[in-house]
Amino acid sequence: MPQHDVLVIGAGLAGQRAALAAAESGASVGIISKVHPVRSHSNAAAGGINAALNPEDSWESHAFDTVKGSDYLGDQDAIEIMCREAPDEVLHLEHLGVTFHRNEEGRLGTRAFGGASAARTYYVADITGQALLHVLYEQLMKHDEVERFEEWFTTALVRDDTGRIAGAVTRNIRDGSLEVFTAKAVILASGGNGQVFTPTTNALICTGDGIAMAYRAGAPLMDMEMVQYHPTTLAGLGLLITEGARGEGAHLYNAAGERFMERYAPNKMELASRDVVSRAEQTEIDEGRGFPDGTVALDITKVPRQRILQALREIVNVGRDFAGVDITREPIHIKPGNHYAMGGIKTDVNGETDVAGLYAAGECACVSVHGGNRLGANSLLDTLIFGRRAGAHAARAGKGMAMPSPAGSELEREREAIDAIVARDRTGRRLSELKAEMGKTMDADCSVFRDEDRLRGALETVKRLQEEVNTVSVDDKGSVFNQDVLGVLELQFMLDNAECIVVGAIERKESRGAQYRTDFPERNDDDWLKHINLTVKGADSPEVSYSEVTMTQWEPEERKY
Ligand SMILES: Cc1cc2nc3c(=O)[nH]c(=O)nc-3n(C[C@H](O)[C@H](O)[C@H](O)COP(=O)(O)OP(=O)(O)OC[C@H]3O[C@@H](n4cnc5c(N)ncnc54)[C@H](O)[C@@H]3O)c2cc1C
Repeated sequence: MPQHDVLVIGAGLAGQRAALAAAESGASVGIISKVHPVRSHSNAAAGGINAALNPEDSWESHAFDTVKGSDYLGDQDAIEIMCREAPDEVLHLEHLGVTFHRNEEGRLGTRAFGGASAARTYYVADITGQALLHVLYEQLMKHDEVERFEEWFTTALVRDDTGRIAGAVTRNIRDGSLEVFTAKAVILASGGNGQVFTPTTNALICTGDGIAMAYRAGAPLMDMEMVQYHPTTLAGLGLLITEGARGEGAHLYNAAGERFMERYAPNKMELASRDVVSRAEQTEIDEGRGFPDGTVALDITKVPRQRILQALREIVNVGRDFAGVDITREPIHIKPGNHYAMGGIKTDVNGETDVAGLYAAGECACVSVHGGNRLGANSLLDTLIFGRRAGAHAARAGKGMAMPSPAGSELEREREAIDAIVARDRTGRRLSELKAEMGKTMDADCSVFRDEDRLRGALETVKRLQEEVNTVSVDDKGSVFNQDVLGVLELQFMLDNAECIVVGAIERKESRGAQYRTDFPERNDDDWLKHINLTVKGADSPEVSYSEVTMTQWEPEERKY
């Protein structure tokens, strides 16, 4: 039975950074990933990472932009930490070997990103996440005290008899065997839940597993209603056209050729925050000023072709391969699409959750630095700063502590649940049909514009699917790389996420950040300048409670771009 001081579940940027920090603090570390670590979703991050490194810039300016971007729902103590620590983290990564773009003077060069008052996004062409992930993985391999479990799938958290989290049940995907991993602390770094929506920019593995496992273990989830729709995704497919395109100078046009952002954000135009740009696009489309395919156009042809090929080569490929468009010569049709979970497992600034022994970091966590809306290029930063802090804190907290004894019953429960899935005969609908219904419902009724009626309809569908998923059978009855079984477990996790997103969206009767309620179109600081927390409550709806938003130096103001 594997035993470690610190067990990290997830090996994207947050997980790898946490594992490194824990190992450097002297802990023995186990790190689990359901895919090979460098195939984690962080690999897809394109545009860059924010830091106020320039002498003319300041961490305070970065922090204020982040607070404003969050529509004042972000916790300002956490935002201050993230922005203050950003420059050292970026330089540290550079020293480890990340080949950040250099400008003509040979200095680290930046690009502009949405909602930022300075160009402070550092990047490696449009493969920033990949560059970071590979460099961290090299570092991870140097550490003997880090044991890697690649292609292992965690199904549940385990407690000891004091109720403390003491490890996790995990299935070896290669042979189907199930093990209890024991640890003094568990850090969930299992990424976001974009697959709850169809389409999404997120990879197939982004199924909110850790968020659901923490929720089932009694940890509160926070701000789950805050789901980011990115302004530039390919219709139908959801593939992302990075914000770096607008950062390099691309404009948005409606079908009449109007640069419509003039109406919505006259100062920042295309570089307003994502919620503002997505709403503007959706308004143009809904009011009949879009193209017949339900899109508007992104035009990057003003940027010199050589610069596009140098700095944005991946989206040149995406345009050519998935839309048949040469973006260096003609506009590409885009629309808002599901992209990012601002909400997640509630943590403090050291990654600690409300459940003893359990930490969370990265997209699955809600510290909360993004509040109602995340600024582009702040997520990679969030994963690294709070991944590092969680790893170091968990290692320190475990010093001198005896290795806990996890309760054995959880292993048996998971084994029986999986055996039942495999044994079931086919009676009901297929897994893929249930997933498609969930994703399309969430995209139709819980996206850029929301209202009570549609949200209640979505909740009803999600609840029905939660019942139906228990009748799903699988074609593959084997134990080697049985993706069918994992698909059922992932869908169960996703449905927990979906329920919490919709319940949060129904609860918040105002419009703030990514949550725009057509039936409550104003921001209402008097009643709703607070976090919504959801905690598991038997088979019923989650229990709702509230927590205060931490303010340090920025009072809420009207948000204009
Ligand atoms: C297309 C795209 C482009 C983006 N570009 C940017 C950008 O330029 N800048 C920016 O700041 N942000 C960007 N983002 C957001 C950012 O990439 C993510 O928020 C961030 O990488 C998430 O990192 P993470 O470490 O939290 O999770 P991930 O990288 O998603 O890693 C999750 C890990 O958890 C593991 N895991 C999950 N469930 C289980 C389980 N049950 N058992 C075992 N292992 C499990 C996975 O295998 C994986 O290793 C982008 C997002 C997308 C979709």
